[in-house]
Amino acid sequence: MPSRDDAQRLDDADPLAGFRDRFTGDGPGGLWDDGPARRIYLDGNSLGRLPRATPAAVARVVEQEWGHGLVGSWSHWVGQATRVGDLLAAGVLGARPGEVLVADSTSVNLYKLLQAGVAARPGRDVLVCCADDFPTDRYVVAGVAEQHGLAVREVTADVDTGLTADDLAGVLDDRVAVVVLSLVAYRSGALLDLPAVTEQVRRSGALLLWDLSHAVGSVEVDLAAADLAVGCTYKHLNGGPGAPAFLYVRRELQGSMRQPIQGWFGQRDQFAMGPAYEPTEGVERFAVGTPPVLATAAVEVGAGISAEAGMPAVAAKGRALTDLLVALVDERVPQVRLASPRAAHRRGAHVSVEHPQAWQLTQALVDRGVVPDFRTPDRVRFGPAPLYTRFVDVWDAVDRLVDVLATDAHLGYPAERARVT
Ligand SMILES: *Cc1c(COP(=O)(O)O)cnc(C)c1O
Repeated sequence: MPSRDDAQRLDDADPLAGFRDRFTGDGPGGLWDDGPARRIYLDGNSLGRLPRATPAAVARVVEQEWGHGLVGSWSHWVGQATRVGDLLAAGVLGARPGEVLVADSTSVNLYKLLQAGVAARPGRDVLVCCADDFPTDRYVVAGVAEQHGLAVREVTADVDTGLTADDLAGVLDDRVAVVVLSLVAYRSGALLDLPAVTEQVRRSGALLLWDLSHAVGSVEVDLAAADLAVGCTYKHLNGGPGAPAFLYVRRELQGSMRQPIQGWFGQRDQFAMGPAYEPTEGVERFAVGTPPVLATAAVEVGAGISAEAGMPAVAAKGRALTDLLVALVDERVPQVRLASPRAAHRRGAHVSVEHPQAWQLTQALVDRGVVPDFRTPDRVRFGPAPLYTRFVDVWDAVDRLVDVLATDAHLGYPAERARVT
C-alpha cells in the first residue's frame, strides 16, 4: 500500500509541481493554508481554481481597454474569440488554426452544432445520445428532436466503465443523422477512444458531435480526427465561473454548415449592416452576438497555463493521481466501491466511488477540508486536477475519508440533498 512518504516522493519527482504556484491561495496565511488542516480541493473538474494572473488580466481589460479605450477597443476585441480559440486549438485540442471559436455556453454551442448537423444530414430522422450523459446534453438533443419531428435513441452504457463499440453499434444505422457523446463521462470519468469512435460513426454516415467538457485540460484530445465538438472552459481550463465555452468545426465542413441563430457576429462584412444574413467564411460563422470580452480574458489566462504545461504531461499526471487514489481506496476503504474504470488509460482525471450514504459522506468531507462533489444516485466524485493537486493531497484526502467512515461521522449529516451538490 502506498505510504504518505511514497506520495511525497511522487511529488518530488513531479515535472508539473511548479504549476501549483500559478494558482491563488496556497502557502502560510493563504486561503488554502498549507498546515495539516488545510483545504484539499478535489473538484477542479467542476470549477477550476483561480490562476494568480487572472485578476490582473481582467483588471487590464476593465480599466484600460474598457475604461480608457472605450469603443475604440473593439478593434482589438473582435479578434479575441478566434485568438483564444486558436490558443485552445494548438495548446490543448489538437486542432488547426481557424477551427475553434470561444463563444456562448456549452449548452448553447451544443444546440447550434446539433442543429447544423441535422441540417447537414437531410432525410435522416434519428438522433443518438447516451442515456447516462450529462443532463443538458440529453435535454438539448430531446428539444432539437422534438422541433424537427426526429426520434431519439438513447444508447445505454455501463454507468461505471462507459460506452463500448458494441453498445454504439446497436443504435447506428442509415437513419441516424447526428450522435452526441461525451469523451469523458461526467459521473465515472470513463474515457472513449476519440478516433475509433469517430470512425465508427462516420462509417454509418452520421455526424458525431463530441462534448469535451470533462476532457479538455485533463486528457490529450486529438480533434484532428473529429468533425464537431463543444466543451467548457471553467472546469480543467480554469477560466472561471460562467466562462464562455468553445466550439470546434472541422475546416473542411465549415462552408457547408449553417447554424440556427443568424446573429450579426456571424455575418460576412458585419459593419456593412446589409439587408440579409449571409454567413461569413470560417469558424466565425458559428458566432452569434456581442461576445463576453471580460470573461474571455480569463479564459485566455487559464487555457494558456494548460497549453504551457503541455497536455501529454498533464494527462500523465492525471492518470498517476487517480491511480494513487484508486490504490488507496482499494486498500483502505472497503466500505466503498470504485465506480470508474480501473485501467488508467480508460479514465479522465476524475474517479467516483459508490456508497449508500454518498451525500452524507460528501458533507462530512467538506467539513474536514476535503472538497469532492456528490453525484446522483450514490456517488462521491473526486477530481484531483493535475495542474495544482499534489500526490500528498490525494493521500491526505483518503486518510480523512478513512477517519470519517471509522467514526461514522457522516451519519450526523442530513440525508436530504441540497439544491447544489
Ligand atoms: C459541465 C458540462 C456541461 C455544462 O454546460 P453549461 O452550458 O456550461 O452549463 C455540459 N455538458 C457536459 C458533459 C458537462 O460536463
